[in-house]
Amino acid sequence: MSIFETFNPIFNRFVLGNISLKQLATGFDWVEGPVWFGDANCLLFSDIPNNRILRWTPNHGITVYREPSNFANGHTRDHSGRLLSCEHGSRRVTRTELDGSITVIADSYEGKRLNSPNDVIVHSDGSIWFSDPHYGIMSNYEGYLAEQELPCHVYQVNPANGEIQAVITDFNCPNGLAFSPDEKRLYVSETGAVHDEEAQRHIRTFNVDAKGHVTGGEILHEVQPGCADGFRLDTDGNIWTSAGDGVHCISAEGELLGKIKVPEVVSNVCFGGRAKHQLYITATTSLYMITLNRQGIQHP
Ligand code: MG
Repeated sequence: MSIFETFNPIFNRFVLGNISLKQLATGFDWVEGPVWFGDANCLLFSDIPNNRILRWTPNHGITVYREPSNFANGHTRDHSGRLLSCEHGSRRVTRTELDGSITVIADSYEGKRLNSPNDVIVHSDGSIWFSDPHYGIMSNYEGYLAEQELPCHVYQVNPANGEIQAVITDFNCPNGLAFSPDEKRLYVSETGAVHDEEAQRHIRTFNVDAKGHVTGGEILHEVQPGCADGFRLDTDGNIWTSAGDGVHCISAEGELLGKIKVPEVVSNVCFGGRAKHQLYITATTSLYMITLNRQGIQHP
């Protein structure tokens, strides 16, 4: 039985027929936040409930990168290659400097503590954008149970002065986010349905102008089953998103083109490998990888 399900024939050009989905490692609790380091030939990802960031390399498999990790969730790299991390436990976004020291990028807004930053991206102008739903403070499972002080917003941090601004404020639980290849569009997912079946589970599209101002917010696509917890784009602007039954590929116009079926609920993906043609998939207890006939726009 094929691991692919095609809804538009164009999807058949994105995948390789003789390729299998590889389970690279398993035995975790809830993995998230994959980020590829081509210079170190490794993938970092979070095992959130076990309070650690793990490293996978082709030759050595799994080793621990950071433990405890302050219940880190999503990661990315900035344009200098430094690791940016969302930390549930310390309710902040941090940057790991090249010497290993930690710089706090954001931990509060208007004098109140952030909830539990979830996923983070960097614009080519150096601004850092992140989502701040409340999952990490709802229980002691993925962080520390605590009072929510702020609504769940998407924030932007100005690289020049470090100022933080709430740029999207009408979500229930914003989660995954990504820019289009030309950075004129920002995609943000709503994952309120994780705890409320009635809530929405869509990806919305925002326009971003040259000054970083955000407008719009139309619904692009509703993910079913599951949620678009995390997603990345390929160089043609197609969205590869987590879902309850695997990875869904959605066009820039919002059409479901095809699926990669994964035997566990998927949380997030990222492109990696020599040509950014391999999709690394964090899925509940396991890390998977599949080689695609696509390339990701992940930087650097
Ligand atoms: Mg997430």
